Amino acid sequence: MVRFDAVDKWYGDNHVLKNINFEVAKGEVVVVCGPSGSGKSTLIRTVNRLEPIQKGKIYLDGQDIYAPSLDVNAFRQRIGFVFQQFNLFPHMSVLDNVTFAPLKIQKRPRGEAEAFARELLERVGLAAKADAFPGFLSGGQQQRVAIARALALNPPVMLFDEPTSALDPEMVGEVLQVMRSLAREGITMICVTHEMGFARDVCDRVVFMDEGQIVVDAAPDAFFENPDHPRVRRFLADIL
Ligand code: ATP
Ligand code: MG
Repeated sequence: MVRFDAVDKWYGDNHVLKNINFEVAKGEVVVVCGPSGSGKSTLIRTVNRLEPIQKGKIYLDGQDIYAPSLDVNAFRQRIGFVFQQFNLFPHMSVLDNVTFAPLKIQKRPRGEAEAFARELLERVGLAAKADAFPGFLSGGQQQRVAIARALALNPPVMLFDEPTSALDPEMVGEVLQVMRSLAREGITMICVTHEMGFARDVCDRVVFMDEGQIVVDAAPDAFFENPDHPRVRRFLADIL
């Protein structure tokens, strides 16, 4: 589904992704973790072509996403991206936030877009809030709307960059619950998160980054039970 083939990226002299080779299969859930500044956000932003790369290739469904001929805007709209800050349109209802891209970008008929949006809101537990405005929702509810909005274009892969780290602690659980149910439904997901409970119970693989390199790519059992890399041991000791 997603494949990195010897990818390098620099910001000026700062070598932020170093020979990245990794693959995410269809339906797989991969958690990316590691210390601050290790390149996690940069890594997932390259999957959406938000960042140029200087070496190597990244493929989505066999398509070279850095090919010059690729229509970047159309491509980006196909990938679901959920950030730390939810960035909902404040002047639009929840329903309109979710139908915006399907109506404006995919030109789908309104009835169909709204029916799908209501189904997605049901899935994230917010069917009753369709007509509310984002400012009247809690952070956890807004993030769930942001997830529904990202799902509205039926993306081949969902990218999450620390989706719970801006939330009050009591709201983290409801967002992780939605992510768990997406994982069970077989949605392909790459999640940057420090929620190690989610990693342990839900994901298929944990990728640990340090200084721009993937230093561990392992099943959760192996990652948590036998962290054979000293940097991972230190990381886990710090956050668990
Ligand atoms: P965090 O856990 O703090 O979110 P991260 O693992 O997501 O960290 P990145 O944000 O990917 O790390 O940053 C990797 C490196 O790239 C860091 O050295 C950072 O300073 C640098 N960097 C990130 N974004 C930019 C940018 N827009 N311009 C220049 N350097 C950047
Ligand atoms: Mg980051």
